[in-house]
Amino acid sequence: MPAVASCCLKRFTLFLMNTHDFDAMLAVAINEARKGLAEGGIPIGAAIFRRDGTLVGSGHNRRVQDNDPSSHGETDAFRNAGRQRSYRDLIMVTTLAPCWYCTGLIRQFGFRTVVIGESQTFEGGIHWLRENGFEVHDLGSQECIGLLGGFIRKHPDIWNEDIGEE
Ligand SMILES: [Zn+2]
Repeated sequence: MPAVASCCLKRFTLFLMNTHDFDAMLAVAINEARKGLAEGGIPIGAAIFRRDGTLVGSGHNRRVQDNDPSSHGETDAFRNAGRQRSYRDLIMVTTLAPCWYCTGLIRQFGFRTVVIGESQTFEGGIHWLRENGFEVHDLGSQECIGLLGGFIRKHPDIWNEDIGEE
């Protein structure tokens, strides 16, 4: 029993230590979402970091801008990060819970940690990620909820297209 308690405490301490870093990482993804909005696109952004906080790549949803339904925040950040030897210690940070397509990307390339701005608007594959042992941190960001919510109210048609609702 003491071993379990010690382990839990260690994990909890690690979580507290990381919380501030995750907020700073999310700020980069939010900045990408704002860039997308300024371009007339869906405000969803993502960024990939090393554990020490080094930015590897960032990007945003370009469905509208590039007429490309496969360009999600996560895939854009992933492409901008270029070739990486390993994804085990990289952190995928995204303003919105990843869809199935991006959950697949996370699984395929071997990310283990995902930081999510919010999952209230759309919960995507977060339950699957958690059930399959991925480390998921949902920050419940009101800024992310507000940013995307404002866009959805103005453009419900584009949002429904993005999430594949008929
Ligand atoms: Zn996606």
